[in-house]
Amino acid sequence: MGRIYNFSAGPAVLPEEVLKEAAEEMLDYNGYGMSVMEMSHRSKAFEGIINEAEKDLRELMNIPDNYKVLFLQGGASQQFAAVPMNLMKNKVADYIITGQWAKKAYQEALIYGKANAIASSADKTFSYIPDCSDLPISEEADYVYICENNTIYGTKYKTLPNTKGKPLVADLSSCILSEPIDVTKYGLIFAGVQKNVGPAGVVIVIIREDLISEDTLPATPTMLKYKIHADNKSLYNTPPAYGIYICGKVFKWIKNMGGLEAMKARNEKKAKILYDYLDQSKLFKGTVVKEDRSLMNVPFVTGDANLDAKFVKEAKAAGLENLKGHRTVGGMRASIYNAMPIEGVEALVDFMKKFEEENLS
Ligand SMILES: *Cc1c(COP(=O)(O)O)cnc(C)c1O
Repeated sequence: MGRIYNFSAGPAVLPEEVLKEAAEEMLDYNGYGMSVMEMSHRSKAFEGIINEAEKDLRELMNIPDNYKVLFLQGGASQQFAAVPMNLMKNKVADYIITGQWAKKAYQEALIYGKANAIASSADKTFSYIPDCSDLPISEEADYVYICENNTIYGTKYKTLPNTKGKPLVADLSSCILSEPIDVTKYGLIFAGVQKNVGPAGVVIVIIREDLISEDTLPATPTMLKYKIHADNKSLYNTPPAYGIYICGKVFKWIKNMGGLEAMKARNEKKAKILYDYLDQSKLFKGTVVKEDRSLMNVPFVTGDANLDAKFVKEAKAAGLENLKGHRTVGGMRASIYNAMPIEGVEALVDFMKKFEEENLS
């Protein structure tokens, strides 16, 4: 059996080269006579792995020295709590609601303080990004929060909100490393790695040093304190060691591919193949306004739930898997993260053309 094209939104496709390397090193990593899963997180070998991963990520994203890079656990969802617990000094934060993940983060923040939903695209099923050029930012806001790429709805901020001097906190789970970004524009970035970087179980946090302090909300668990993890270089307790090792391999893979500029060009090329087809199709239709389309997650529909189901089923039989849309949106969604080869997108579009021919009444 060969590998299929996996369009899952997450956990998602990883580069084949990385999986092969990991397989080769499974029983004996680098002459240590054991797999990375079996070694102490305090060993020289693992120290090498985590330091190299951080170095490569810093290089790829051009992360300035006044930002800490943390490899944590608990997924992106745990950051929904960690962010307010660490950053809400005034107990006020402004949230922009562009989908389910932003909404969940907002609802979590409401537990800890006054979270304000200052903009939303709920009125049109989150099919666009609201104008964020002049938002009613709260005087007292400790930060402004966005979900930069909306995995479920397939929208992406093309310009960052004007936060009027407040730190920007951004969930980059489904777009980290898909293109270059200017880290200095953010106070805190976090990303669960299982969309675009590695196996579930690792969350990357990139945080400006002045936002790290002892002064967290009173009931903050030790494990949710950024200061603890920063002071201990992500080794306060046993980290998700194997996951970090795979992330490190993906960072190297991206470097070999030419870095984030090259990733961006490749991702744009892939997305264009799919969007161009959708724009002229008489059967399929993209669900997002053109200006705000994601390069990573592409939702589309036929407008007929039965036909959508038929498409998903036949696509699977043709080796194109996990195209069913999110349960809250219906239709289809093709997630075409960094590791999805151009051939995968071409195969999808070829299949869609054939399906359109056969099913257009
Ligand atoms: C998948 C996803 C999450 C949730 O990630 P978990 O690691 O499962 O908690 C949060 N935000 C975005 C943008 C996502 O795509």
